[in-house]
Amino acid sequence: MAQQTMSFQAEVKQLLQLMIHSLYSNKEIFLRELISNASDAADKLRFEAIEKSELFESDPDLRIRVSFDKDARTVTIDDNGIGMSRDEAISHLGTIARSGTKEFFGKLSGDQQKDAALIGQFGVGFYSGFIVADRITVESRRAGLPAAEGVRWVSAGEGDFSVEQIERAQRGTTITLHLREGEDELLSAYRIKSIIRKYSDHVALPILMKHEEWDAEKGEMVEKDEDETVNQASALWTRSKSEIDDEQYKQFYQHLAHDHQDPLAWTHNRVEGRSEYTQLLYVPSHAPFDMWNRDRQGGLKLYVKRVFIMDDAEQLLPQYLRFIKGVVDSSDLPLNVSREILQESRDVKAIREGVTKRVLSMLEDLANAETDEGKAKYATFWNEFGQVLKEGLGEDFGNRERIAKLLRFATTHTDSPEQNVSLADYVARMKPEQTKIYYVSADTWQAAKNSPHLEVFRKKGIEVLLLTDRVDEWALSYFTEFDGKPLASVARGDLDLNAFNDEEKKAHEEIGETLKPLVEKMKEALKDKAKDVRLTFRLTDSPSCLVSDEGDMSGNLQRMLKAAGQ
Ligand code: ADP
Ligand code: MG
Repeated sequence: MAQQTMSFQAEVKQLLQLMIHSLYSNKEIFLRELISNASDAADKLRFEAIEKSELFESDPDLRIRVSFDKDARTVTIDDNGIGMSRDEAISHLGTIARSGTKEFFGKLSGDQQKDAALIGQFGVGFYSGFIVADRITVESRRAGLPAAEGVRWVSAGEGDFSVEQIERAQRGTTITLHLREGEDELLSAYRIKSIIRKYSDHVALPILMKHEEWDAEKGEMVEKDEDETVNQASALWTRSKSEIDDEQYKQFYQHLAHDHQDPLAWTHNRVEGRSEYTQLLYVPSHAPFDMWNRDRQGGLKLYVKRVFIMDDAEQLLPQYLRFIKGVVDSSDLPLNVSREILQESRDVKAIREGVTKRVLSMLEDLANAETDEGKAKYATFWNEFGQVLKEGLGEDFGNRERIAKLLRFATTHTDSPEQNVSLADYVARMKPEQTKIYYVSADTWQAAKNSPHLEVFRKKGIEVLLLTDRVDEWALSYFTEFDGKPLASVARGDLDLNAFNDEEKKAHEEIGETLKPLVEKMKEALKDKAKDVRLTFRLTDSPSCLVSDEGDMSGNLQRMLKAAGQ
């Protein structure tokens, strides 16, 4: 087939423009991205070869090779992974297939710094090569295809690319970057090695470069004909904790999560016994742009005996922990496990329970931190992910108590919209006669704190939780008591606050008798509009307020359902 020129998808053009400009100050990440693709390609080959071992051809030792050519001014990344067919090169290197792409482009603000952070979350990928290159040549052959069915893809990273069929004996992909003017500093083994060690040390495959030695006669480093492995080349999570420093954990997180920022916390351990697996789990420091998108990619990668099986293994983690990123490497699951098998598997159920417990205890550690730094971290966690965690009250009955202890609220006691009061704090401040945990819900903190229902509570000095998150009402329908104390809405039914004062109660009864005829009259007048009219002593400043009955929908929930068109 002759050479053909094709256009990039519109989003690719837009991404290229943006990336070249906004990521320039961080340009060395291109190497991390291309090495990560090479490593993915090796994972894919291993995975397909489980059922078709002939895909390894005569070249079973998977590796990545990085080299450079000073005269041609090129840097080359070569892998013997799965490779690409012609059609794959066209679609994978010409379009962005990920879900959420549209949403991503909608979020771009034009502010370079903010957009650069977003691009980081999105994953910069193959196109980041164009930050340093004004032309990229990709030559590839997919494992299993004949040598005559290789492909060459060339682009200058502007509007279009060309593809042609080539003869290629070698399976896998060779990517050659023709450097832009001024990027010659990359033409140095020292420089390239230090970038690899910084970003790609944890890559499980050996990353090879030619070994260099000092030549005293020539007075310079000279390339030898032997290979050197530049990285550690063992999957990070398989190493023992004592061999891994914080910096390595953070770099691994950035690779895993496509996030430029450090994680808030992580946990790494090996579980033995009925079900054996290693888990390395991270709490990010900020929510992804698409956290509320139902189709978004989840954050856990599943490996079986170090072989990558799948991204987004949603069976391993309940929905309400979907913000967690990490790796689970099982020793028990079969290598050919599919999503369907995962759904049924008892091993997976055990892993899911174990992962959930581990995440909850990591969050408990964060929540119980004594230092200011630790406290700030939990506040960050709560602001970013608290609303998601609350879904757990309805989703995970078994861990409801543990989740409840992690909750934080705004209350009448702190008088600030900041959600930082735990239920334990609340209970510790309860009045001696108080038996219930009171809350009020509204659309905003302002509305909640000015609710007329609160007047009597203020008068009696009783703290009330101010609930304003969308999930609150739903979550509370599953969560009815804490520490043996029922949760009660201040807007519902008869409040037995009278127990707080017997004499007052007597006085109230007397007034009730006197006003009975008036109440009866009002009942008659409002009989089509209100179920009942009652005398109340709960208000101090307002003349009247609406309440919903015990068992009826609360006013706020009614408004929400109305807004949702029900
Ligand atoms: P991502 O890696 O997040 O999918 P990239 O932009 O990095 O996005 O890569 C796009 C796609 O191009 C990959 O998903 C893969 O299908 C293909 N690809 C890139 N590099 C290679 C490679 N070295 N070998 C095989 N396929 C590759
Ligand atoms: Mg990639």
